[in-house]
Amino acid sequence: MGQATELRGVAAAPGVAIGQIVVLDSVRGAIPRRAISPAEVPDELERLDRAIEASREQVQRLLQDSGLSDDLRSIFEAQMLILEDPMLIDETREKVRTRSVNVEQALADEIEILKNFLLQSPGTIFRERASDLEDMGNRLLSNLLEVPEGDIRIPELLKLDSRHILVASDLSPSLMLHLPAIGGLALEEGGVTGHMAILARSRGLPAVVQVEGLLAVARDGMEALIDAESGLVALGQLSRAHRKAHARYLQECADDANRRIHSPVKLARGDNAVELWVNLSDLAELDDPRIPGASGVGLFRTEFLYLKDQQLLASLPAQTDAYDRVLSRLGSQPVTFRLLDAGDDKPLPAMGGLKERHQRGVRLLLANPELLRVQFRALLLGTRNAGVAPENARLMIPMVSRLEEVHAVRALLCEAAEGLDGIEWDRHPLGVMLETPAALLMCDVLSVHVDFFSIGSNDLAQSCMGLNREFESSADELFYQPALYRLIHQGLKLARRPVSLCGNLAGRPELIGLLVGLGLTQLSVPPTDLFRCADVIKRLSVKQVQALAERALGASTAEELRSILKVRDVAPV
Ligand code: PEP
Ligand code: MG
Repeated sequence: MGQATELRGVAAAPGVAIGQIVVLDSVRGAIPRRAISPAEVPDELERLDRAIEASREQVQRLLQDSGLSDDLRSIFEAQMLILEDPMLIDETREKVRTRSVNVEQALADEIEILKNFLLQSPGTIFRERASDLEDMGNRLLSNLLEVPEGDIRIPELLKLDSRHILVASDLSPSLMLHLPAIGGLALEEGGVTGHMAILARSRGLPAVVQVEGLLAVARDGMEALIDAESGLVALGQLSRAHRKAHARYLQECADDANRRIHSPVKLARGDNAVELWVNLSDLAELDDPRIPGASGVGLFRTEFLYLKDQQLLASLPAQTDAYDRVLSRLGSQPVTFRLLDAGDDKPLPAMGGLKERHQRGVRLLLANPELLRVQFRALLLGTRNAGVAPENARLMIPMVSRLEEVHAVRALLCEAAEGLDGIEWDRHPLGVMLETPAALLMCDVLSVHVDFFSIGSNDLAQSCMGLNREFESSADELFYQPALYRLIHQGLKLARRPVSLCGNLAGRPELIGLLVGLGLTQLSVPPTDLFRCADVIKRLSVKQVQALAERALGASTAEELRSILKVRDVAPV
């Protein structure tokens, strides 16, 4: 065997890992749509029969695996029944015959229709059937498209562990939520500020994205190194240097395990300090030993609770319990619950039934007030049950762009509290995410009506530059645009309430000085970024960061800004 193939990508979540590759390739994006002639119909139907037979044989083989747990066995048994389901198979046949479409397209459409129907039906059983349908549907499509390795192998994915490196073209947030603790992740596509990256960071999973040529080289079982410190992915026969990089990283982790941060962190000279808060998105993260040293939770992304557990959305007791658990664990520190921020970028399973479902954040909530009412009641009750001060359960509205939205949300909060005993709803601080240029430019007006602000730089960078968040963007576009810092500067000048920043900018060492120089004194980052942020802050001086901010605000281009920040290459995190 020769040397390892080295590919370069962009780091989306820090860390270094070595493991065995497992390739996951979604067939979803690759479904051909083609009109067929009546003469082709018999052939297309025969292809469907062959795909059904191949799928049946594959699942039968899986069932013969003696190491299969009972849970997985019953999943596969239920999936076998789908191959005989007339609502799927007969309808697909009918579509091929009458609509003149190729069989892959007919099948993919039928899967979608059935899945939405199941997801909107009441009861757990239907929702479980929807995920079985999705799995078996992918298997059928893979067989039709003759991509034997290309099916979405969710049940197999659940068996992976820290010895595995997952390779894929891209990963949806919901698939990411179901991944076990694997060693690392490499994607051919994916964005640095996308939700996949956010989840990888919050789970401490090293991830490199935008690795060109990855799927052409990666094969199941190959050894690979993911070095998310430098954006390197090495596949094949790893060198001594690769193994050394891994060993160095493991040593750093061992050293960090004995460290604590103490927020606020003082700058090098004088009394100025920066508060470090943490971003969380899952109950599983509550025990992270780094959290107690932070000033609080600056962003709890509640939508990920709902994405992970489909039952939660409709259940007041289950939601109340989730918030009670967060606050019972962390409630002596302030916790900022960002209200459900779903949309096309983070599609909830129940999305099909929502009004204005292509809207995001507060727009989606106000179009579906019942969702927000239940979430508010759960947050109010969870706070009471946990016995913490309402001041420590802060409520934050996502994607605000107009004052009217704040008024409408506050009115719903007041309404949600009706009939609840012992609730002081107006003691909960209500804040706004600053992630649209409109909100930043209206900060003076909004200040009169809210208690705090938090800059969502991930969305702000996109809305400022007209980008699409879930697609690849260069670091130049995302992080080094002078316009972004002018906008933040403007917002900070207008705001009359505390402003923090909770987007990915806060975790980038080369930008922390600039953010502090602009006047930010609260940064909220994933627990994995706390130490490196604290280390950078301790080396800053007020004079130096103020001068840096002044120069940065005068920059004309990303290149100029990078040279002011002394960023030589457009390097990964
Ligand atoms: C942001 O937009 O910067 C943010 C913190 O929220 P999210 O990444 O969840 O949209
Ligand atoms: Mg956002």
